[in-house]
Amino acid sequence: MIPYGRQEVTQADIDAVQAVLRSEFLTQGPAVARFEQALAAYCGAAHGVAVANATAALHVACMALDLGPGDWLWTSPNTFLASANCGVYCGARIDFVDIDPRSYNMDAAALADKLERAERAGCLPKVVVPVHFAGQSCDMAAIGALAKRYGFRVLEDASHAVGGRYRDAPVGSCAYSDIAVFSFHPVKIVTTGEGGVALTNDAALAQRMQRLRSHGMTRDAALMDGEPDGPWYYQQTELGYNYRITDIQAALGSSQLARLDEYVRRRHRLAQRYDALLAELPVIVPARGGDAYSALHLYPVQVDARRCRRSRREVFDTLRAAGIGVNVHYIPVHTQPYYRRMGFRSGDFPRAEAYYAQAISLPMFAALTDAQQDEVVTALREALT
Ligand SMILES: *Cc1c(COP(=O)(O)O)cnc(C)c1O
Repeated sequence: MIPYGRQEVTQADIDAVQAVLRSEFLTQGPAVARFEQALAAYCGAAHGVAVANATAALHVACMALDLGPGDWLWTSPNTFLASANCGVYCGARIDFVDIDPRSYNMDAAALADKLERAERAGCLPKVVVPVHFAGQSCDMAAIGALAKRYGFRVLEDASHAVGGRYRDAPVGSCAYSDIAVFSFHPVKIVTTGEGGVALTNDAALAQRMQRLRSHGMTRDAALMDGEPDGPWYYQQTELGYNYRITDIQAALGSSQLARLDEYVRRRHRLAQRYDALLAELPVIVPARGGDAYSALHLYPVQVDARRCRRSRREVFDTLRAAGIGVNVHYIPVHTQPYYRRMGFRSGDFPRAEAYYAQAISLPMFAALTDAQQDEVVTALREALT
């Protein structure tokens, strides 16, 4: 089976992990700090806070932004569950903004309309979570301008987008946001096994996220209520979690980061090959360009129902039977039973639903060979006819 995404682990990665296993620290130690610094430097952000996974990063980010009961978090329906669940963890209410039918990202114009209505109704969001779907940045300048006008905070779910760029800066620079979160799950661009990092230019937000990943405790006398009892002393200043990442994982991440640009270039070469090889087929290929240089986490095509007699389901099943591990990204979050119980219905976000109805993610990962890609295209051509 050719999967839709998978990691590549080199001897250098194995050596880096082995070095940690022979060292004094296994869990959060110097390798975590090195990974955070390397990633922040790569992205041009001031601070990085590494945690157990991107879901945990989104959670501590929402907490650091003071999201709580009575607040609203808005995100895209075309995302993984975590982009919305992080708000629920904080007791906030969730709403969605429909997607742009070309980029499949949150539509900045739809966001502007919804904000205007929300302002009149007195229910503006506290946090908006744009998701850089498939690795392509949202229109962050427009979202950033709306944040200034309406006073909400921006938390980028950049889980797909490490190595991507927006205008003249890497995704993660937080030029138009408060915090940006990356995932290092093995299907993403580079991996730590499990891992996530929150980047920010705000030192206070970074410190708060550092405390929240470790039970809400601090050893910094300046942050304590009263004087420390002695050198052993720590204080819990609020409720946090154990969301630590290990030095083992961070060493893998630093080693992988050295190949990030090469991986993204390879993904672009594969995407250009797909674009050309699929040009005559009844599929809609993902639009790229404009202000964004995508990290190309995914290559989602739409089986164009107007030009193709096969349904998405038939095409999907035929590809799976041919050993092509296609997948579908994403089931619109608001149609999940959990979110339906909050009152959402099919039809609430029609563009995300229409996109989902036709979507299939083709294999896309740096180690995919041209020959494997040809195999995918041959199988797809047969499945479509
Ligand atoms: C993968 C992913 C997450 C969650 O990442 P984990 O590291 O697995 O917690 C969140 N949001 C999006 C859009 C993702 O693709």
